[in-house]
Amino acid sequence: MTYDCPIREGARRHPEAEALRFTGQTWTFRALDEEVARWTAALAAHGVDQGDRVALLSTSHPSVTFLFWALGRLGAVFAPLNARLTPAELRPLLEAVEPRLNLALNALRDRLPGAESLESFLEGVAAHSVPVRAWDADTPRVILFTSGTTGRPKGAVLTEGAFRASCRASAANLGAHPAPRWLGTLPLFHVGGLAMLTRTAYEGGCLLLHERFDADAVNRAIDTEGTSHASFVATTLERVLDARQDRKLPATFQCALIGGGPVPTALLTRARAAGLLALQTYGLTEACSQVTTERPTEADGRTAGPPLPGLEVRIVGTDGTTLGEGQEGDVEVRGPTLMARYWRQRDATRDAFHDGWLRTRDVGVLDAKGRLTLLSRRTDLIVRGGENLYPAEIEAVLANHPAILESAIVGVPDPHWGEVPVAFVVLRPGHALPGDLDAWCRQSLARFKVPTRFVSVETLPRNAMSKVERAVLRKHALSHPPYQP
Ligand code: ATP
Repeated sequence: MTYDCPIREGARRHPEAEALRFTGQTWTFRALDEEVARWTAALAAHGVDQGDRVALLSTSHPSVTFLFWALGRLGAVFAPLNARLTPAELRPLLEAVEPRLNLALNALRDRLPGAESLESFLEGVAAHSVPVRAWDADTPRVILFTSGTTGRPKGAVLTEGAFRASCRASAANLGAHPAPRWLGTLPLFHVGGLAMLTRTAYEGGCLLLHERFDADAVNRAIDTEGTSHASFVATTLERVLDARQDRKLPATFQCALIGGGPVPTALLTRARAAGLLALQTYGLTEACSQVTTERPTEADGRTAGPPLPGLEVRIVGTDGTTLGEGQEGDVEVRGPTLMARYWRQRDATRDAFHDGWLRTRDVGVLDAKGRLTLLSRRTDLIVRGGENLYPAEIEAVLANHPAILESAIVGVPDPHWGEVPVAFVVLRPGHALPGDLDAWCRQSLARFKVPTRFVSVETLPRNAMSKVERAVLRKHALSHPPYQP
């Protein structure tokens, strides 16, 4: 079975429907199709052909969407790179991708050797039509490097079939919408951003693209631009709610997906009390975004929900046996949204899959209704004297302390226990490090879960996806006992 580019299809079926919006500028499907055709011609003029990779260093910008679809029309592969990386961090990624062409925003060009300017890429290229290639389910569309919270980033090869399956599965869970208008504040070099870009195109909807997250701009888009869906991580949802105060949500707003890392139940409850249906979701790059998501009709914020229709999740013990409900173990996923492989990393690919199941390296548990609760990354798990300890559980207890804004728990080696938890806490303005944190934790946690040290820091180190960089904290805890920010 072959597929056509959804922008071309959209231009035929609903040419005047809005497809893309960015800082007040709008592209209909027809206008977007014409723009993509120009980009396709420019790429072909640069010698880009089927199977070639094109690397991009950019923040979210309309040109990124033009480039994404144009590369698809040539059968070439999009390799977006995290715009926050340094030249030294980018170098190994470029060596792995071996791009035919590098493109970057002017402001970022000095970080990407030999990069052409994204802003002036069309200059001097005469319009001419280029044969458009059809895609099948196995056509690689993107090499997407995982956000790299553990070790060296790996490039997940995501196919046309995976993107389509992910869109279908997401829509089946959230319920039909004639033309979703998805608020795009997640970066387009992350799977969450690409999922919104593809989902809106396949469903004939509109991507409301924002260059960066800004709580007031998000609320304006919700109130005045007919936003129907949005995706946030926990910290950005909190900022949206803080900025909205008591303003009512318009009827056009359907729901928001919240994931990318631990999502406190209290935050989802707060969102729902404010009239914003926020659904916890669990996903990862290797599965083309969502794996499980709460069902809108059954959401209570306590779990990450059941697998999306068409996907399967199982929990596996350390001896490889499949565990039953209520038993904690490694989360594995199977279904049509999985990556094809890691780019040129045969060993890593072999380790990631067995019998068609993807090892996620997350630890979790399924309940009687098949809903998943995430407990930890396998690598964040702290084993103290043989007992498993999940950072998210301790962080949730600390989050309820009146003096604490947020915290991160990391394990550090200990001669007696093997490993012990250390808490890094960010205090609310005007507070000093409270003396009762140990007692506070003991009220709700077993003794072995209580951190052995509480360290006050101004902020937590976070990566481009707002994920806490635990490796950085661990390193600090080890090299600065006691920690000096
Ligand atoms: P790397 O794989 O390089 O460490 P990363 O984990 O940040 O980077 P992503 O694919 O961006 O890679 O993120 C997926 C991970 O995010 C999941 O494996 C999981 O650990 C975490 N995650 C996603 N959703 C949730 C959730 N609802 N609750 C807890 N953790 C989540």
